[in-house]
Amino acid sequence: MTTTETATPATPSNFIRSIIAEDSKTSKFGGQVVTRFPPEPNGYLHIGHAKSICLNFGLALENNGQCHLRFDDTNPTKEDVEYVDAIENDVRWLGFDWGTHLYFAADYFERFYDYAVQLINLGKAYVDDLTAEQIREYRGTLTEAGKDSPFRDRSVADNCDLFARMRAGEFPDGSKVLRAKIDMASPNINLRDPALYRIRRDHHHRTGDAWCIYPMYSYAHPLEDMIEGVTHSICTLEFEDQRPFYDWVLDTLQTPCHPQQIEFARLNLSFTMMSKRNLLTLVKDGHVAGWDDPRMPTIAGLRRRGYTPESIRAFCEVIGVSKAASMVDVAVLEHCIRDDLNPRAARVMAVLKPIKVIIDNYPEGQVEEIEAPFFPDEPARMGTKQVLFSKELYIERDDFMEDPPKKFFRLSPGKEVRLRWAYVIKCESVVKDASGEIVELHCTYDPDTKGGNPVDGRQVKGILHWVPVAQAKPIEVRLYDRLFTVENPAKAEDFRTVLNPDSLTVLQGFIEPSVADAAPGTFYQFERTGYFYSDPIDTKDGKLVFNRIVPLRDAWAKLVKSGQQN
Ligand code: ATP
Ligand code: MG
Repeated sequence: MTTTETATPATPSNFIRSIIAEDSKTSKFGGQVVTRFPPEPNGYLHIGHAKSICLNFGLALENNGQCHLRFDDTNPTKEDVEYVDAIENDVRWLGFDWGTHLYFAADYFERFYDYAVQLINLGKAYVDDLTAEQIREYRGTLTEAGKDSPFRDRSVADNCDLFARMRAGEFPDGSKVLRAKIDMASPNINLRDPALYRIRRDHHHRTGDAWCIYPMYSYAHPLEDMIEGVTHSICTLEFEDQRPFYDWVLDTLQTPCHPQQIEFARLNLSFTMMSKRNLLTLVKDGHVAGWDDPRMPTIAGLRRRGYTPESIRAFCEVIGVSKAASMVDVAVLEHCIRDDLNPRAARVMAVLKPIKVIIDNYPEGQVEEIEAPFFPDEPARMGTKQVLFSKELYIERDDFMEDPPKKFFRLSPGKEVRLRWAYVIKCESVVKDASGEIVELHCTYDPDTKGGNPVDGRQVKGILHWVPVAQAKPIEVRLYDRLFTVENPAKAEDFRTVLNPDSLTVLQGFIEPSVADAAPGTFYQFERTGYFYSDPIDTKDGKLVFNRIVPLRDAWAKLVKSGQQN
């Protein structure tokens, strides 16, 4: 052999993988890869965060590196221990491990302060007495340079003194700020003397009332990365214009470590809203049952609904990483969970909207046991179950039509259908109540069709799922639809006006007896109606509650197949 064979990479590349591969080659960071996932603990994580988690932890894993979990808790308000615990739990559940590298930005407050003093001593920071309003006026616009503050030329000694007194609590909230001294005429507005510290008497969840000045995010962030020895600081595109300031902080302080900031496009998902602030409103105003409501795009909500960590990781891999902002079709996420559950969810029969069928020619009191596989395509898997056939059955109300259109292959008067695993039945008559609503169907069965196939070879197209009335187990079924009626709810003036009033439907149905003692948190495919998950919390005390994760019809796979998407 003269050709060298290159191994196909297990995962497709993206521009960040390429940058890191190049840095490893040139030994830019001594060949090391240290990334971080830096959530602000002001809400639960959502599917957008999952993209960032998979990216950061994934890159570290692929490169024998390390990914830190860092709580970016420099902002004293709205942060909560409940969120810290939930975030740790979600990251772990997604399958990632930060080892000993758990950090809180608030633990660096003293160091941020020291670095600010250094900047003052370097003549690169000053205390400004302008009001917030004036600072805005002085900043200029995209087309107009800003103006220097009259306080810009304070002496180093004065600045040191004033900054120390800001910390000591001598000045009221908002009366002074510490600003970087860069360039009020910079074409990048972020470099027009950005604020480094503000005065704010707020209780902090970790430092209590120790501080009344708090660092700005854009100042603290590069220092946090640097302190932890991060090599690649990966963030979303809106921070691209902040990168010059990120670099300015570290260059000016001549820190020993200078991480490289790399921006990528955040995940936007159709019919989904991501901002934690808005998600909090949904929870607080009772539009959903909580952060883990199965309609929420939170990790907790997706988990409660029945999404698996594997499916979410697969989704994050499929959507890729790029610099181009785009909207991902929520059908892609649904495709990923189907793909994951297809080989592992046992097939069972459950009737969601029951209507009773009475088989007139079937012997009263007789119960037939029919053996059926849990995985029809692979009968050896998980073995078999007994399906119990008897005189009274439930079928799906929607599987019957009194006046069917031409291509209706389900049940209607005088027509035949196959009952899955059992017999061919024919509808003979319909019983209605006083209001005209159909209450039961009278049918006959063909004893020569055991297993569901007519021996004379006649064509019976429709196959229905069913359960026996006497032995079926009652279940509560929760069907979920999109939480919003529009593709991009974030664009709506008030997202509450585009909430889908039918996002939750609760039904009382029946499931085949083999599932009677399903444990909470078990996956099933209900034949013909979807993938379901026994609710991990409400399935208890003998009550079975099932969340529908997704229906079976895969709109995305269909599009891909027809070549409309790839
Ligand atoms: P939100 O707007 O939902 O509150 P955030 O960006 O304020 O999100 P952070 O807690 O600051 O939330 O985010 C932690 C990390 O997750 C950041 O690095 C951020 O870039 C990333 N992230 C947040 N939302 C998305 C998203 N939709 N797609 C990809 N990454 C995201
Ligand atoms: Mg934020």
